[in-house]
Amino acid sequence: MTTSGDGAGRRASEGTEERYRRRWRWDGVSWGTHCLNCLATCPYRVYRRDGEVAFEEVGGVLPPVEEGVPDLNPLGCQKGSGWSVQLSGEDRVTHPLRRVGERGGGEWERISWDEALEEIAEAVVEAIDLEGPESILFEETVEGGLLTQSPFLRFAGLLGAVTLDANGLVNDFPTGHHITFGKFSCASTVDDTFHSDVVLLWHSNPAYTSIPYFHYVTEARYRGARVVTIAPDYNASAVFADQYVPIRPGTDAALALGMCQVIIEEGLFDEGFVCSQTDLPLLVLTGTGRFLRGARREGGGPGGPVLLLGSRGGPSPGEPGHAHARGRAAGVAGTVDGQVARRFGGRGHHGLRVVAGPSRR
Ligand code: SF4
Repeated sequence: MTTSGDGAGRRASEGTEERYRRRWRWDGVSWGTHCLNCLATCPYRVYRRDGEVAFEEVGGVLPPVEEGVPDLNPLGCQKGSGWSVQLSGEDRVTHPLRRVGERGGGEWERISWDEALEEIAEAVVEAIDLEGPESILFEETVEGGLLTQSPFLRFAGLLGAVTLDANGLVNDFPTGHHITFGKFSCASTVDDTFHSDVVLLWHSNPAYTSIPYFHYVTEARYRGARVVTIAPDYNASAVFADQYVPIRPGTDAALALGMCQVIIEEGLFDEGFVCSQTDLPLLVLTGTGRFLRGARREGGGPGGPVLLLGSRGGPSPGEPGHAHARGRAAGVAGTVDGQVARRFGGRGHHGLRVVAGPSRR
C-alpha cells in the first residue's frame, strides 16, 4: 500500500505490510485438532513458525457422507480457531501453584514439581490411612482427551479411588435419553438433520454449543424444514426458528407429557417404533407413580411383569392406571403444545437436537 507521496508515510505503510506478511508467514504445516470439551475433533491445518503454532485454519477436506446432502465442512468453531492463542497465552498455567491466602483470594505461590508431588502423595496416603481410598475423588476432565485421562484413571483404579463420569461432569450425558432408549446416543450422523421436515431445538442452544454442526439446521430449513425452538430465553438458536415456544424453566417435562398426550390421542405416532423402542406404552399408577405390574392388577403384591397399554390384562385409556399429564404447568398456552406435538408427531422425518455441551447457554 503506497498511497502517500510522503517518505515517512511510505515507510509507515511498508512497515504495516511487513508486519502483515510476518503475521501470516509460516515454516511448516501439520494436521491437528482440539480437545476443548468437545467431541467434534475438527481437522485443522496448524501452521508453525519458529517452532510454535502461528495460526490455525479449518481443514475443509471432509467428503460428503451422503450424496445430495451438504458435507460437514467447514467443521470448526471460534474456540478451536483461537486455541493456539491460549496455548502460548501468558495466563496459561504451566507449573504447580500453591494457595497461600484465603480460599478464593486468588493468592498463589509457585512451587517445584518435586514439592507438588510430595504434598499430593502425603495427602493421598493420609486420606487412605484415615478414611480409606474411597475418600479420594478424581474429577475427570475431557481436556486433553484420552491421552491425559488414561494415566490418571489408571492411577485412580490402582488406588481404589472414586472417579466421576466425564460426560456427566461436563453436561454431555443426556441421562433421560439413556434411561428411555438404553443407549448413550442412538442418533444417526449429524448430516441426517438435513433430511428433517421438523427440527425441534429443545434443551439446547446449538448455535452456541454445537457450532460446527449448526449449519445443518439452517440448511434443512432452506430445504423446507420447519424449525421450532423451545427455550425460556430467546437464545441465539431461536433466531433461526420458524416458531419460538417460550417455556418456564423446569417445566419441560410437563410440556413433553402434554405433547405425548396429543400425539397419542390423535394417533400421530409410529406404534411399532414406540412400543419396541421407548417406555411410552408402560403403564404407570397415578397414585404412586410406579409401573403397573401384573401381580398388583390381580390384587397381589408389587411383583410381576410390567404391563403395557393394550397388553393382555392391562387397562384401557381412561381406566385407573392409565396415566396422563398435560402441559398446562409449563406456562404455555394449551394450543401451543398441541401445535408443536402435531408438527412433531405424524409422518415425516423429524430431528430432535440433543447436543453435546452446556445446555441453554
Ligand atoms: S468444535 Fe471447535 S473446539 Fe471442538 S474440535 Fe471443532 S474447532 Fe475444535
